[in-house]
Amino acid sequence: MSSDTQREDLKRYEEAVRNKVCPYCVDFGADGICHSKDPSGCAILRFLPELVAIAKSIHELKIDAYAEAVKKNICMKCRTRKPGDHCMYRDTLDCGLDRYIPLIIQAIEDAA
Ligand code: SF4
Ligand code: SF4
Repeated sequence: MSSDTQREDLKRYEEAVRNKVCPYCVDFGADGICHSKDPSGCAILRFLPELVAIAKSIHELKIDAYAEAVKKNICMKCRTRKPGDHCMYRDTLDCGLDRYIPLIIQAIEDAA
């Protein structure tokens, strides 16, 4: 796959997230802007390629397998994570990625 195609694919998936996840997000402001508590920015957008790979490789009805894959493949390299699998944003429900895994997977699958 060419890098142009990859870029276009990612753009399409990002648009899907913005259309199908952000409007339901508690951090989405009335001003139409993301107010994520994470100073690094919403983890969904930081790890979109990894989320696309997870959505393409897992085909389960239950969300557990996706949540496990997120912890293993994304949280492990997220700079927010602390030793012992703790994440202050997950603990306080302030990570958009952690909160909306089902919506994110659905949005990516619909845009595939
Ligand atoms: S935190 Fe993530 S899901 Fe929520 S509005 Fe921002 S970009 Fe969208
Ligand atoms: S739950 Fe924490 S470690 Fe995992 S993606 Fe979200 S901010 Fe990063």
